[in-house]
Amino acid sequence: MPTVRENNKPSDVNVEEFRGQLLDWYDRHRRVLPWRALSGQTPNPYHVWLSEIMLQQTTVGAVGPYFTKFLDKWPDVQALAAADQDELMEAWAGLGYYARARNLHKCAKEVVRLYGGKFPNTKEELQNLPGIGDYTSAAITAIAFNKPATVVDGNVERVMARIFAVKQPLPKSKPKLKELATLFFNGYANRPGDLAQAFMDLGAGVCIAKTPRCSLCPVSNHCHALAEDIAADLPRKEKKKKKPQKYGHIYWITDGNGSVLLHRRPDKGLLGGTLALPTSQWLADSKDLSRPSFIEAVKCESYKKAHIDHSFTHFDLKLTLRRAENYTATVPEGYFWTPREEIEIQSFPTVFKKAVAIFLK
Ligand code: SF4
Repeated sequence: MPTVRENNKPSDVNVEEFRGQLLDWYDRHRRVLPWRALSGQTPNPYHVWLSEIMLQQTTVGAVGPYFTKFLDKWPDVQALAAADQDELMEAWAGLGYYARARNLHKCAKEVVRLYGGKFPNTKEELQNLPGIGDYTSAAITAIAFNKPATVVDGNVERVMARIFAVKQPLPKSKPKLKELATLFFNGYANRPGDLAQAFMDLGAGVCIAKTPRCSLCPVSNHCHALAEDIAADLPRKEKKKKKPQKYGHIYWITDGNGSVLLHRRPDKGLLGGTLALPTSQWLADSKDLSRPSFIEAVKCESYKKAHIDHSFTHFDLKLTLRRAENYTATVPEGYFWTPREEIEIQSFPTVFKKAVAIFLK
């Protein structure tokens, strides 16, 4: 039987026994998820792909309603390929990273154009499609097509770090954790889709961050972190550097009828293509802030001395709220007026939702 060994560790893990225990447990405890085929059903690649793209952003619980909404509106990849881009962006609002929504749309179009609406079933072909990287292509290959692939998400990394008591912190340990995962996935053709999902379920429900439920674990007899009593400490993480801070103003501008000026951000760049309120530039020093030129002519004042804080991946942002009334000049391309009562807060990405909520109060 194959065994594996972590550096400097005098202990072995029996891979076949481990897989058998994990899959037995999965057969009894597998999660029922809106995008997951039930036992005995054939997985739908469109469902698997859509859910994996959404899950790159957020948790299983948060994705559920979005997934259902998308399937109602666009029940298959052909329908999604033909979707109106603005409608798609609005349906995505709240899931973050709009570049992913744009890639989702591009990918659906490519699947229709190149493959007649049928997802390809090899990792290499999948990886050539927009928005599908190493992890997602592996997940689709294994889960949708039941073909061997090494599927390593955060859950699998955590399980590997603990099973082999890998003390090197993340992210440096990523290659090592992937190499360890390969030992379980590589060449395993029997139930590769179930194996990937079993690891995911174990990480999501038993081998959870901070407080692993080792007494419920089907593979605890293989776990070196448990034996060393360091399971809750792993995986270790390098201390995060403090993000740079940026500042800006965000404007609630109304015309003589009380309509509000909104902005469709350019497709390229941060929050590209999303619905927004007008803002100044976002700069590292608040003293350098100035109004966008098209609102220079109108009197702007601080709104309730309020501000919002929002954290992006690479920086933190503080936006102070400002208001201007009775704007009469022409607005530039990309800006448009909307009656206040027609403003739907759900259509904005989170950073703007926070401001709109304050202005609408
Ligand atoms: Fe995770 Fe505990 Fe199971 Fe080890 S025994 S894999 S730490 S749940």
